[in-house]
Amino acid sequence: MRRWNGWGDEQIESRLPAGAQNMLESLVGCPAPQQSVHRQEVTVRVPGSRVDAAGATVSTDPGDRLDHAHGQSFPDWVAVRCGTISRFPDAVAWPESESRLEEVLAFADRNRMIVVPYGGGTSVVGHLDVPESDAPVLSLSLQRLNQFLEFEPENRLATFGAGVSGPDLEAALRSKGYTLGHYPQSFEYSTLGGWVVTRSSGQQSRYFGRIEELFAGGAAITPRGSLEFPPYPASAAGPDLRQIFLGSEGRLGILSRATVRVRELPETDNIYGVFFPTWEAGVSAVRELAAADLPLSMIRLSNPRETMTNLVLAGHETEIAWLKKYLRFRGCYDDASCMLLLGMIGPRKMVAAGRKGARKIIRRYRGVPVGRPMGRAWQKNRFLAPYLRNTLWDRGYAVDTLETAVTWDRVNEAMQDIERVISGALEDKGEKVHVFTHLSHVYTSGSSIYTTYLFRIADSPEETMARWQTIKAAASRAIIANGGTISHQHGVGVDHKPYLSAEKGALGMDMLRNICTHMDPDQRMNPGKLVDTGGS
Ligand SMILES: Cc1cc2nc3c(=O)[nH]c(=O)nc-3n(C[C@H](O)[C@H](O)[C@H](O)COP(=O)(O)OP(=O)(O)OC[C@H]3O[C@@H](n4cnc5c(N)ncnc54)[C@H](O)[C@@H]3O)c2cc1C
Repeated sequence: MRRWNGWGDEQIESRLPAGAQNMLESLVGCPAPQQSVHRQEVTVRVPGSRVDAAGATVSTDPGDRLDHAHGQSFPDWVAVRCGTISRFPDAVAWPESESRLEEVLAFADRNRMIVVPYGGGTSVVGHLDVPESDAPVLSLSLQRLNQFLEFEPENRLATFGAGVSGPDLEAALRSKGYTLGHYPQSFEYSTLGGWVVTRSSGQQSRYFGRIEELFAGGAAITPRGSLEFPPYPASAAGPDLRQIFLGSEGRLGILSRATVRVRELPETDNIYGVFFPTWEAGVSAVRELAAADLPLSMIRLSNPRETMTNLVLAGHETEIAWLKKYLRFRGCYDDASCMLLLGMIGPRKMVAAGRKGARKIIRRYRGVPVGRPMGRAWQKNRFLAPYLRNTLWDRGYAVDTLETAVTWDRVNEAMQDIERVISGALEDKGEKVHVFTHLSHVYTSGSSIYTTYLFRIADSPEETMARWQTIKAAASRAIIANGGTISHQHGVGVDHKPYLSAEKGALGMDMLRNICTHMDPDQRMNPGKLVDTGGS
């Protein structure tokens, strides 16, 4: 069963090693353990629904409405854990076919309802916020629109209902010897439709491609009518309408069906660990690796603070002590060394040749290969890391992440600036912030920068929110000042909306607004997200 007020399956608990607790206390201070409110306390406060659902297949049950009132953004966490959540959809619907979806949308139309499409509920930037509005709100869950509709092996294409979750999609393809290979860390719950409309990126996108490369076509139901996106392998017939739907965040209509480009399961899919003596050496190596013609699935370089933090969080103190001793012997000292996880994928022979090529580059930058054990551990736990957020919250620590992408000439400065403003953001309040970063998706022309920060939860939800807002605003300004995009993979939603014009420009913002108002003249599709268009 899914946790109602945190991340993941309630049966899975993440352990915080004693060493990690001590480290965090020394870095940000000793926090007060948190008592989260009980589900029942929140459910009884859900107000009456404003729609008459008689005869309609929608639910107005308070529990369903609570479950669809939020995603996984930091403000969502504070609101749910502290019981301050105040806006709920008036009804929830789970259509299981495109014709039922049309009926539900007709019901919403008759009742002048706002529609918030709901995929897996994993948004981290406020995409699922229920707007404050006089109009009633329908949360339209796509989770039952999850059928495996068509498989075309000769075209390497597969078509699914847009609400299919990551595990169901992969299980269906793997049973035929194929894979999509799209693994965002939210894989367990996020959906194909959610990936497309937020322009998501999977952990092995280096090989499999980002969702915009995997999304071949499909269908959407919009307030203006239906749209079909034929899965042409390529086309020069004017602007690509698929690109307009990619990143549309529920503003243009519902993506009901998606055709994706699939591959045969790779013969080899391994991750290797490498340590570099300095950040500069690591960055130079990964820049070269990215430009080399190698069968790489992932290049993930942690800076010294993240390397140190990950080693402590891993527990296994004896093994880590031995590893550190070995690394010191090879010239990688604790406070400066950087860990790289390097994924190699493809036919066995190609991977063997690729490893030779990668080793040459790694040696040039005094990298120390440590083989597959760290990579195996990462592969085994790749979707478990977010569970630690539950444990940390209970102990009194708030954690959040943010991300951007910049060209290589800006990577170092941008990372340092973002970390600097975050770590100093709460100085006025006498609070410390622990911040660390990795380059998570590395391209020939640049890299994404993925930063995690941790601070103490305050005595009141208002003060916890104020701390987060201060950090988030400072970091977002630093991203813009360093020429970064406001999001490499999480999307815009509500949290990134104020910074979007910096990269789109005034005319670009006009274009986006006009597309939204043209496709949704009454402004009832997820208003308030992505761009302001004067709707609710
Ligand atoms: C722990 C964790 C790890 C994450 N890791 C990654 C990562 O590695 N890479 C990454 O890219 N993101 C990541 N994310 C962010 C998030 O998972 C992605 O944005 C994901 O694509 C959202 O998919 P979803 O199905 O959960 O959509 P939701 O969160 O339910 O919705 C997101 C937006 O899409 C709209 N929407 C959903 N489905 C449809 C549809 N069929 N038609 C129209 N609109 C729709 C919603 O209205 C909303 O605006 C992570 C999030 C968490 C909590």
